[in-house]
Amino acid sequence: MRNQKGKLFVVSAPSGAGKTTLCNRLLGRFDTIGYSVSYTTRTPRHEETDTEDYYFVSEEEFKAMLDAGDFLEWAKVHNNYYGTSKSKVEEILSAGRDVLLDIDPKGARQLREQLDYGIYIFITAPSMNDLRTRLINRRTESEEIMKVRLDNAREEIKHFHEYDYVIVNNEINRATNELEAVYVAEHLRADRLDSIEDIMEVD
Ligand code: 5GP
Repeated sequence: MRNQKGKLFVVSAPSGAGKTTLCNRLLGRFDTIGYSVSYTTRTPRHEETDTEDYYFVSEEEFKAMLDAGDFLEWAKVHNNYYGTSKSKVEEILSAGRDVLLDIDPKGARQLREQLDYGIYIFITAPSMNDLRTRLINRRTESEEIMKVRLDNAREEIKHFHEYDYVIVNNEINRATNELEAVYVAEHLRADRLDSIEDIMEVD
């Protein structure tokens, strides 16, 4: 994955921060980004579709992929396994598109350690109370799982400083603008250019 043309955007957030909505808005606005659909052993939620939201697999299937070296990174999150497919990310990047990964801080750390590129974005809510309310209103998790997710949120937010950008989602339109601003700004970086002729005619 060294000669990739597209950029790698890595987004992490505690459960209930609104990351999925924000990522979907970014993907809806820019067709230059492809979303890398992860593999998970978690049970699908009502509104989720296999191959669109995740590839839902059994623990045996996941472990077989792990043994075969198919994952770019993987982690056990909230008692389930999640992993990013190496070949899917390569496919998107080599087509010259950017790739968006929605992964937890453990996975993000693995990527930072093995890749010398990538833009890391942390999204959070304005308060723990906000996360709690959003999780309750979402009604996708049992009380027990919700507690696990909130306990994990307290741990995850401690890692915000490992990211390049932090977005506080206190108002969805404003947070969307901020995420889009990061995306656009990353494409304006001078260090992405080999020469000025890439962007202007010089005589
Ligand atoms: P959820 O079960 O709410 O869809 O996701 C739970 C957590 O797993 C979220 O923090 C999400 O970012 C993370 N996650 C989803 N896919 C992956 C993946 O491929 N790798 C890693 N490390 N985390 C993932």
